Amino acid sequence: MNYSFILSKILSVFEKCEVNSFPIDCTELINQYGYRVFTYQELKAKSPELYDICIACSDDAFRDMATKTVAYNTEASRRRVYFSLAHELGHIVLGHLAETPKTEVEANFFASNLLAPRMAIHYAHCKNEADVARIFEISCEAAQYAFDDYRRWRRYIVSRHNRMTSLDRAMYYHFYDDDYKKFVYCRKECRYCGKEFVNSEWRICEKCKRIAEIRGNMYDSNNADMQMLNKWIYNMNKKQGIL
Ligand SMILES: [Zn+2]
Ligand SMILES: [Zn+2]
Repeated sequence: MNYSFILSKILSVFEKCEVNSFPIDCTELINQYGYRVFTYQELKAKSPELYDICIACSDDAFRDMATKTVAYNTEASRRRVYFSLAHELGHIVLGHLAETPKTEVEANFFASNLLAPRMAIHYAHCKNEADVARIFEISCEAAQYAFDDYRRWRRYIVSRHNRMTSLDRAMYYHFYDDDYKKFVYCRKECRYCGKEFVNSEWRICEKCKRIAEIRGNMYDSNNADMQMLNKWIYNMNKKQGIL
């Protein structure tokens, strides 16, 4: 298997589809490659003949080159669906005409590196497979493979005295953001102020987080003040013989 070729194809997907944040929506990417994506239920209603072939072929996802259709099984877990769709995109991008053991391995390698690029795992400071699974929203099994492969990638970089390959360099430049002056693997909109913030697992930006923390502390101290006040009233009442 030509790993570099597959990695260069992944980079071309990131560039063509302007992927700049993880986790990624593979449905969107598949659409950009001219394929339509349906659930199995939608396919059943739309094209019963194709649905029959699809059920006979696979459990999780299905691709038909003639009609440029990809379908997926909503009964599978969400993360498994993501991986199956990335796998199908791999077949499309790598120009596979048939499913053979070789093309299956290639499509799996493609899916793993598309959903969790090793460089993104690095900049996300993932310490184990659980971090990878959570941040890139992939299954534990897929995260285990991605993390082991990341460590191999890291060892290779270290053995080259931290010199990146030309492909890694191109990947780095694709995700490097001039405004933030760093490698950006995740962009979110703050649910309080609506501003974009990057590389964080929080759902709110740093500024709003600080405000929430200050409010939280005030609330706690108010609570403590109230407890003290109640205790004082209780003691006073007791002293005066009311209690
Ligand atoms: Zn396949
Ligand atoms: Zn905010």
